[in-house]
Amino acid sequence: MKAAWIEEFGSPNVIKKGFRDFPIRREGEVIVQMKCSTINHHDLFLRQGLTGSRFLPVILGSDGSGIVESSDSSSDFKKGDKVVIYPVLSCQECINCLGNNPHKCCKSFGMIGEQRNGSHAEFISLPEKNLVKMPTNLNFTDAAAISLAGLTAWNMIFDEGKVTQGEHAMIFGASGGVGVFIIKLLKKLNLKVHVVTSNISKTKSLESLGVDTVLKNSAMEILKFSKTLPNKGVDILFNCIGGNTWRYALPAVRCGGRIMICGSILSPVAELDIRQVFYRNISIKGCTMGNLASLKNMINMAASESDLRVPIDSLISINDIAKAHERMSAAKIFGKIAIEF
Ligand SMILES: [Zn+2]
Repeated sequence: MKAAWIEEFGSPNVIKKGFRDFPIRREGEVIVQMKCSTINHHDLFLRQGLTGSRFLPVILGSDGSGIVESSDSSSDFKKGDKVVIYPVLSCQECINCLGNNPHKCCKSFGMIGEQRNGSHAEFISLPEKNLVKMPTNLNFTDAAAISLAGLTAWNMIFDEGKVTQGEHAMIFGASGGVGVFIIKLLKKLNLKVHVVTSNISKTKSLESLGVDTVLKNSAMEILKFSKTLPNKGVDILFNCIGGNTWRYALPAVRCGGRIMICGSILSPVAELDIRQVFYRNISIKGCTMGNLASLKNMINMAASESDLRVPIDSLISINDIAKAHERMSAAKIFGKIAIEF
């Protein structure tokens, strides 16, 4: 079968494309014929050896959608069923796994496409708990985009952020897959959405998503704007990029407000004035993906609301994955890069 994998960490050049053995299905697993998977920043971090994983070689790709090829006779998943991948691997016995939050697993948190072979392949074998049935009125590409990015957005907004109607939200890193899903969900909930972009040429695309304000990634502009809001700052801030944005992200949040973190594209190291956190009673919450119920909720909402989609920046073949990694590193994309099989 065709696949894209790495045998060493490094630049996009380490990504190998070619043929690998058909996956072996163990008891309790399902073989899925992949129809679409997308590229996430996690794939770039893994390729560079930045996630701490030493499981090599490994087929890349954590999310996706496809069709069941084979399963146990007792399985809920039958040949021909359309499915979406739930990317989280976990121990199933720690306090968080027992509380139905495997994405917070204390003992062996992992991801498909890291600790086991991933979805940038024509076929994949996955535990049943890593699959959700796909509604008929979603297509494979849109479902694949929801599989990880949509799940993360849902978790940050509903499970962790607990947003309420009328609040002011700010998003750093709004033009990626997670960022666009955050915008779409927040607008459905009637929040005021203010986005920050480093690339002002993306303004029109961001405005077309219904955002209220597009701000240049400049400390002065962001702080000046945030002081004009009713409570002198946004109620909730989503930071998908990290780096030096922390210096002005904190003061842009109102006293008692909250910050949700789901990424560190610019840099994982942040310099911040910690007094801004305690004197101003700000909550900072780290988020990655979410639980299975949240994925089902997000998929069901997308199935009934046709505008809950992320723009597909480009639809590529497995042969073009290295180039796609380069474009993502250069922040040249809007939405998701999807791989079609
Ligand atoms: Zn666990």
